[in-house]
Amino acid sequence: MTAIVRREEQLWSRCAGCASLLYRKRLRRNLDVCPECGEHARLGAPERLRQLVDPGSLRPLSDLLPEADPIDFVDVLPYPHRLTAARASTGLAEAVVCATATIGGHPVALAVMDFRFLGGSLGCAVGELITRTAERALDDRIPLVLVTASGGARMQEGALSLMQMATVSQAIAALREAGLLTVSVLTDPTYGGVAASFATNTDLVLAESGARMGFAGPRVIRQVTGRALPEGFQTADFLLRHGQVDMVVQRRSLRGRLVALLAATRAGRAARADHPPVPRQEPASRRERLADDDAALTRPADPAAAVAPSPTPGAVQTPTVRDAWDTVRMARHPARPTTLDYLDSVFDGFVELHGDRLGGDCPAIVGGVARLAGRHVMVIGHQKGHTTAELVARNFGMASPAGHRKALRLMRLAARLSLPVVTLVDTPGADPGVSAEEQGQAAAIAENILTLTVLPTPVLAVITGEGGSGGALALAVADRVLMLENAVYSVISPEGCAAILWPDRSAAPQAARALRLTAPDLCRLGVVDEVVPEPSAAAHDDPAETAHRLRAALLANLLPLLDVPPAMLVRLRRQRFRRFGTTRGVNRAGVR
Ligand SMILES: [Zn+2]
Repeated sequence: MTAIVRREEQLWSRCAGCASLLYRKRLRRNLDVCPECGEHARLGAPERLRQLVDPGSLRPLSDLLPEADPIDFVDVLPYPHRLTAARASTGLAEAVVCATATIGGHPVALAVMDFRFLGGSLGCAVGELITRTAERALDDRIPLVLVTASGGARMQEGALSLMQMATVSQAIAALREAGLLTVSVLTDPTYGGVAASFATNTDLVLAESGARMGFAGPRVIRQVTGRALPEGFQTADFLLRHGQVDMVVQRRSLRGRLVALLAATRAGRAARADHPPVPRQEPASRRERLADDDAALTRPADPAAAVAPSPTPGAVQTPTVRDAWDTVRMARHPARPTTLDYLDSVFDGFVELHGDRLGGDCPAIVGGVARLAGRHVMVIGHQKGHTTAELVARNFGMASPAGHRKALRLMRLAARLSLPVVTLVDTPGADPGVSAEEQGQAAAIAENILTLTVLPTPVLAVITGEGGSGGALALAVADRVLMLENAVYSVISPEGCAAILWPDRSAAPQAARALRLTAPDLCRLGVVDEVVPEPSAAAHDDPAETAHRLRAALLANLLPLLDVPPAMLVRLRRQRFRRFGTTRGVNRAGVR
């Protein structure tokens, strides 16, 4: 009897849209789109690939990576148990399947995410596999197609998963520079760190019918704003109306659209090929390139040594060990110095520049030119405040898309003027609001991350207070990343992490410990290069001494960067963020 019921279940399935009972074979023939109401059911990566690529053309890329639990994360279950369960239930090695194939005869490299695998979350392995796929596209000079489905960065890998946003973005930047097309196809759902990086910083963004995309999820926004969300919020049609996607495509037309777009770009390349070709160096294998760069890093007389880890003279390397949750509270202390305080105490002659030139000036981001020990620099930072009124006026340091675009404008201006960029990071995260989503928050963050990976001027970032997820990373892709002793830097707030992985929010202190978000932890993981010690009390008890120490650390780290040629800076910066994959960089013990 049970067997018959189970068999019946396999034959029929109920539509999530209209509740019609549908014959599974008929549904599959209709590409898993309900023939009654048009609901697009979610697809696993293997089925998606089958629908998109030419029969017989699929060549899977290796998904073999060493087992990784880079921060030994445990919530109610150890992370490796969750990974094992995901592998067993999906038959996949990770939350992405990568391949080369042809689509309508056009060769492409593809990375297709699978939401069934831990919510399609972006961890080190997923970042590494997508990056390799982009590198394969670059080596083969073919377009890259990404099909996204993800809840965001993978909490269980802490800030290392946040770094993947930069790693994949710089691979996309390399394709942009090479004139190779990148396309992302947003499928339901695409959120968080994936939305705020490779889902939106590609040349073309297609949204499948029924897909929802955004940086902050609807539940979070409802909780924070206490208001009902607009009809159709974050749906494909909403995204189209707000100028965030090129088109909304029905699943049955998706392959055809891709073929047309790939054909158009191939035609462009063919036209260019009529001109005498620019001789291109045979692409070195990635291993050779990395070996080269390793040599550059260790060669003492090389200017690249400026980017290699070197402690600030006089800096104390063994800061007080404090519980992670106490550090979180310290980092959020209202009396803690803000960016404007540091602009007054660490820098001279600050001239603030306003506006994104697109219609807004976000008070949560301040920036402008200033002098550091007589040298001109561009300083950009999040601004909080000390009083409730100041905090409200500054939106608690949570930048809007206009803020990210102002920062982007100032970064590019700095590069044009050959000014080094110093960023001061202190934000709970990006703005979880309706209008921020309407104005393309995810794409704004994604563009900043990508731009910083290739900005041809020195970039020095300091996490001064809270380094909250993608909002922080949008200012923290740098040649050197410093962190004040009592600052924190995390892929998600401990409260947010506790709400998702523990039975309730009261587990925030445990989540804070599990996330490895303190300066000493992140220094060990290589996410941060140097801890700037605070006075024995804390930054807010002795702001003058904190400023003095920060100034010394900034100078010690910035001056060597000034002698490095821009092209080499960019190469080494890319390499810094390329190391956070699972095969290199951090091993299980978290030691480089
Ligand atoms: Zn239906």
